[in-house]
Amino acid sequence: MVTEARARWTNWGGTYSCSPTRIESPTTEEEIVNLIRAAAERGERVKVVGSGHSFTDIGCTDGCMIKLDNYNKVLEVNREAGTITAQAGITILQLSDALAHFGLAMENMGDVGYQTISGAISTATHGTGARFRNISSQVVALSMVLANGDVLRYSPTSDPDAFRAAQVSLGSLGATSTVTLRCVPAYNIRSVQEPRRIDGLLEEFDELCAQSDHFEFFWFPHTEWTQVITNTRTHEAPPQHQRRTGFGAYVNDILLENHVFGMLQRAAQVRREWIPSLAAITARTMSRKEVADRSDRVFANTRLVRFAEMEYAVPRPQLIAALREIRAMIERKRLLVSFPVEVRVVAPDDIPLSPAYGRDTGYIAVHVYHKFEHEPYFREVEAIMNAHEGRPHWGKLHFQAAATLRPRYPLWDRFIAVRDRLDPDRVFGNAYLERVLADAT
Ligand SMILES: Cc1cc2nc3c(=O)[nH]c(=O)nc-3n(C[C@H](O)[C@H](O)[C@H](O)COP(=O)(O)OP(=O)(O)OC[C@H]3O[C@@H](n4cnc5c(N)ncnc54)[C@H](O)[C@@H]3O)c2cc1C
Repeated sequence: MVTEARARWTNWGGTYSCSPTRIESPTTEEEIVNLIRAAAERGERVKVVGSGHSFTDIGCTDGCMIKLDNYNKVLEVNREAGTITAQAGITILQLSDALAHFGLAMENMGDVGYQTISGAISTATHGTGARFRNISSQVVALSMVLANGDVLRYSPTSDPDAFRAAQVSLGSLGATSTVTLRCVPAYNIRSVQEPRRIDGLLEEFDELCAQSDHFEFFWFPHTEWTQVITNTRTHEAPPQHQRRTGFGAYVNDILLENHVFGMLQRAAQVRREWIPSLAAITARTMSRKEVADRSDRVFANTRLVRFAEMEYAVPRPQLIAALREIRAMIERKRLLVSFPVEVRVVAPDDIPLSPAYGRDTGYIAVHVYHKFEHEPYFREVEAIMNAHEGRPHWGKLHFQAAATLRPRYPLWDRFIAVRDRLDPDRVFGNAYLERVLADAT
């Protein structure tokens, strides 16, 4: 086990940092148990973090921080049942590689794979696809180390209330130690990216979502243009020239999508007034691209340009209206926005704190280059989302508190009851949880 004393921790987006008393990197479940038991006995709080890819202060602590990057092994693959059990610190990229080895894959993924599986499920990380639910819904069992050191395994048949709560826990119940996921036979994705004018696209949006396995688009503010991504599941072998590996993929994914995009952001930093012209240049240079490869290689992108992000889940029927209001607001307020707005869809689930709980869901994500101020833009967007019954992504920036969140989650009180039972002394608490789950500590 590695211990760093008086270390500072900063999340990926640089939006939050904290000074834990120390950062521990255990390698076994027993070490996790001992760390938690000892901290609880000292009256110290504990925060288990993943890859720090949440933009909120959800991972921050002034107590003991536990990082699981050395606790990331695959423990069991059950091909017949189509399940994999892994230690909680495994990243989605590592997990996908392991699954591919056994001819399996995750049912769906977000647009990067850097997150740990436990971090991803804690905040209800999702991809896109009207028929596909978020990653938490792929969990069939998990084990958790509680504040008193007990290790409990939860599943739909073993303490179902705790299981549902632990599927999206915000890290508030205990330390997830192992996760068992339901997987699917390995598949490839044929991905078509193409520019389209936003007005026509919005008219056809529902139809396109219904026809495609995984549909999403990015709209570039100050332009009429979107980049549409249609991902189709297939078992056909991908043609060599369309694979997302090798020099061609490097030019497209790293040089164009990251370095050129980063240069445009730095140009915008020189003079903000250039942003609409830079957006127009971006829109003009977009072209049709086709990629086909193993599913995780297509889903997971490389993101080198840092940003801050807010994302809201709204009922599907309200998605397009909400997006139109954001568009009008950007014009009305004369905001200068240099990052695209991302629109995705997700199927409903039954997890108490999932933003997709009980409703077909549309997600709208807004981003700001990390060197620019995000708050004025995000507050305006949030006001629109509030009027559309929006539920914030737990790992992305928002300004909500328990009083405004509770009415949006029908099973809120059941979640709190589980938390009261599993972590009555709030050993896993922090400032974020005090705000969003209303602790008077
Ligand atoms: C570039 C980028 C792209 C992204 N793309 C998407 C996307 O496509 N879709 C989407 O939905 N989100 C996306 N996100 C958000 C991201 O998926 C979530 O914020 C996710 O929670 C980050 O996982 P992590 O491993 O970094 O966890 P962290 O951010 O480190 O932690 C998140 C929460 O999980 C808890 N936690 C982590 N491990 C444990 C454990 N073992 N036990 C108990 N609690 C634990 C932490 O305490 C914290 O509460 C993106 C973020 C970035 C920076």
